[in-house]
Amino acid sequence: MNYLKGLKCKECGREYPADRSFICLNCFGPLEVTYHYSKIQSHLNPKIIVQREQNLWRYRELLPITKNPIAGLHSGYTPLVRTRRLADYLGVRELYLKDDSVNHPTFSYKDRVVSVALSRGAELGYSVFACASTGNLANAVASHCAGAGVPCLLFIPQDIEEAKVTGSLICKPTVVALEGNYDDANRLCAEIGDHYGWGFVNVNLRPYYTEGAKTMGYEIAEQLGWKLPDHLILPTAGGTLLPKVAKAFQEFTKLGWVQGQCRIYCAQAQGCAPVIRALHQGLDYINPEKPRTLAKSIAIGNPADGAYVLREVRQSNGWGETASDPEILEAIELLAEKEGIFTEPAGGTTLAVTIKLLRQKRINPLDTIVVAITGNGYKALDVFDSKFEVDVVLRPNLRIFREWYKGQQALPSVETTA
Ligand SMILES: *Cc1c(COP(=O)(O)O)cnc(C)c1O
Ligand SMILES: [Zn+2]
Repeated sequence: MNYLKGLKCKECGREYPADRSFICLNCFGPLEVTYHYSKIQSHLNPKIIVQREQNLWRYRELLPITKNPIAGLHSGYTPLVRTRRLADYLGVRELYLKDDSVNHPTFSYKDRVVSVALSRGAELGYSVFACASTGNLANAVASHCAGAGVPCLLFIPQDIEEAKVTGSLICKPTVVALEGNYDDANRLCAEIGDHYGWGFVNVNLRPYYTEGAKTMGYEIAEQLGWKLPDHLILPTAGGTLLPKVAKAFQEFTKLGWVQGQCRIYCAQAQGCAPVIRALHQGLDYINPEKPRTLAKSIAIGNPADGAYVLREVRQSNGWGETASDPEILEAIELLAEKEGIFTEPAGGTTLAVTIKLLRQKRINPLDTIVVAITGNGYKALDVFDSKFEVDVVLRPNLRIFREWYKGQQALPSVETTA
């Protein structure tokens, strides 16, 4: 059964077959995948989906593949965590975290998009994959390619987190570090294009790649019991995730599987917020800027799909805000202290912006709120430098420990034996 219909220009609507095309020949607009929704409707429903394996391919009819996937058999279906202590602290009733910091196997939302790009890329005959990346995407490409046994090339800016570089290198890809930032790396990849016949997951496979981001939206709706949240806060870098989660909600609504209206909010770091500035200025285009923030995984100054983020945020009656670097770090600590979840600066940005939106009273504390946690803090330890220290260093000796502990006030002190 084939549910994949074709590709369609997001700007002028011209249609193309679902092949290696990725840019409209008529207007240079980006292409988007279309599906046979009536076929999907007659063959698929929530009852069938809930019985399937807990990975992102449980929605496979709504994803752009026609054969068996080659990647992502354990990716997606990450926890939707209902917070207790964080919700109490913020004075809200129903606050969930969509926790992609534990996505398999590389601990970020990028495992979703890469699973779909590689699977479709293989169907289209690509045998080498590549990407430009701020780190998490490189990790996901390196890992999923290793698992599928296909070679890959990674183009990364020179200054990204060491953990992210090692996390890629361990899978033995070919890695090219480039002087400059992500936007420079991305420009080179666009210039290389199809010249060598490689499948650049976020360039020539982009129409398929971006579809993978829908799965976060499907899962949120399913995990809430087939309903949409009232508010969803997402981070934005290149602008893939937000419009595709919006598309996921629109598809589920059209198929009649969910009800409700979700306001979608965009979160960016103050040091790289081209989308938020355009939103606040009432523009419908993006002025690129030079990133200056510790939130490196979302430091994209010239977001490819930024204009679509603006469109979806406005259409959903949402909004967007920025968070400064200190606010981002504070939010990372808050999340860990209250829920035991350690996220990287992208997650800190999203939580910090959520707090700001609550203060602005844009979000009603009695509503259902979902915050996307898109990456893992263990990959970006350097942002805390040497801020945290152990409480004390002791020789491992009982008398010495007791001596020290007597002077401590903070912990319960119930000595069972004298
Ligand atoms: C890539 C990324 C994002 C968002 O990226 P988009 O390009 O806007 O889809 C958010 N968080 C993390 C951790 C990422 O790696
Ligand atoms: Zn077009």
